[in-house]
Amino acid sequence: MTERIYNFSSGPAVLPLEVLKQAQQDLLALPGVGMSILEISHRSKTFESILNTAVEDIRRLADIPANYHILFVQGGASMQFSMAPMNLLPPNSAADYIVTGTWSKKAVKEAGKVGTVNIAASTESDKFNRIPDAAEIKLDPQAAYVHFTSNNTIFGTEWKAEPQTGTVPLIADMSSDIFSRPLDVSKYALIYAGAQKNLGPAGVTLILIRDDMLPRSPASLPTMLDYNTYAKENSLYNTPPVFAIYIVGLVARWIIDQGGLSEMHRRNERKAGLLYAQIDSSDFYRGHAVAGSRSLMNVNFRLPSEDLEKQFVSEATRAGLDGLKGHRSVGGCRASIYNAFPEEGVQTLVSFMKEFERTHS
Ligand code: PMP
Repeated sequence: MTERIYNFSSGPAVLPLEVLKQAQQDLLALPGVGMSILEISHRSKTFESILNTAVEDIRRLADIPANYHILFVQGGASMQFSMAPMNLLPPNSAADYIVTGTWSKKAVKEAGKVGTVNIAASTESDKFNRIPDAAEIKLDPQAAYVHFTSNNTIFGTEWKAEPQTGTVPLIADMSSDIFSRPLDVSKYALIYAGAQKNLGPAGVTLILIRDDMLPRSPASLPTMLDYNTYAKENSLYNTPPVFAIYIVGLVARWIIDQGGLSEMHRRNERKAGLLYAQIDSSDFYRGHAVAGSRSLMNVNFRLPSEDLEKQFVSEATRAGLDGLKGHRSVGGCRASIYNAFPEEGVQTLVSFMKEFERTHS
C-alpha cells in the first residue's frame, strides 16, 4: 500500500482511513449495484438511499430537531456568505455580524451587497487573536439575524459557547469545526459548513436551517440560490455533488461509530492539549490565540524568526509532516487537526518540535 503521511492541511483535509478504504472498495462497483457512485444517476434508488441515509445519520449524530432541514448545496461556504443574506435579510432591516477573522470579513462584504450590515464586534485590532467578550458585543434587538464564525481557521480561535442573541435568529459559519464537539442545533436559525475540513471532500456545503426561516426568502430569488428549493426537493432539484454527499455520509457514520460528538470532543481536546502544552512549555514557540480563545482545530504558532519558520516547515515536510505552513495572510505555522487527524500524528509533531528547538535554538 502507498504510505500515508501526516496531513496538517487546513482543508481539504485528512479524512478517516476507514472512509477512504470504504470508498476505494466501492469505487469499481457499489455492492449489488454493479456501478460506482461516480456513475449512477442521482435519480436512482441507490443514490436516493445514500442521500437519505446521510441525512438520517447527520440528524442522529447531532440530535437535530425535526423542524430543521438538512440540505446539501454547492458553491462552498463562500456562496453561503451571499445566500444567507439573500434569503434571510429582508429589505429595510439590518443584520449584526461579529467579526473574528478573514472569513467573517468576507461574510460581511457579501452581506453588504445585499443589505445593511452592522458590525456588532470585531477583534481585528488584536490581530484576531481572540473571541470578543459578551460585554464587547453590541447587538441590535431588532436585527434580522446575528452572524458569527464559530472557528476561525486562519487565526486559530474558536468560540467556546455561542453568542447570546435572545430571540434574534443566530447564524453560524461552522466550516472548520462542525461536529468536532457537541452542538445544540436548537440555538441556531441557520448553520452552514463547507465539507472539506470535518465532513468530507470539497464540493458540497452542509446546511442546517430551521423551518421558520424558509418563508423569509423573497420570491424573486434565483431558484438555485433559494433555500426553499433544496428543502422542497430534498437537495435533488438539480444534479447534486453525488460523490461528495456519499463521502459525507460515510464520515457521519464514522463519527457515530467512533462514539459521536462527545468522543470527537474528547479526542480533539487531547490532541490540541498536547500541542498547546508544547507551545506553553517553551519560549521558542509562541501561540497566536490567547488562552481562552484557542481553537481545538487549528493550532497557530510562531518561531523566533521567519527564517526558522521556513526551515521548520520544510524540515517537517521532509519528516512526513505536511501542511504546517500558516495561511499566507498571517505567516507562521499552523497545525490543522480536525476530527480525522490521528493522535499519533500530533505526538509525532510534538516530538519534532522538541527536536527542532533543541537543534535550532
Ligand atoms: N469559512 C471558513 C471558516 C473557512 O475556513 C473557509 C475555508 N477555509 C470558508 C468559509 C470558505 O469556504 P469555501 O472555500 O468552501 O468557500
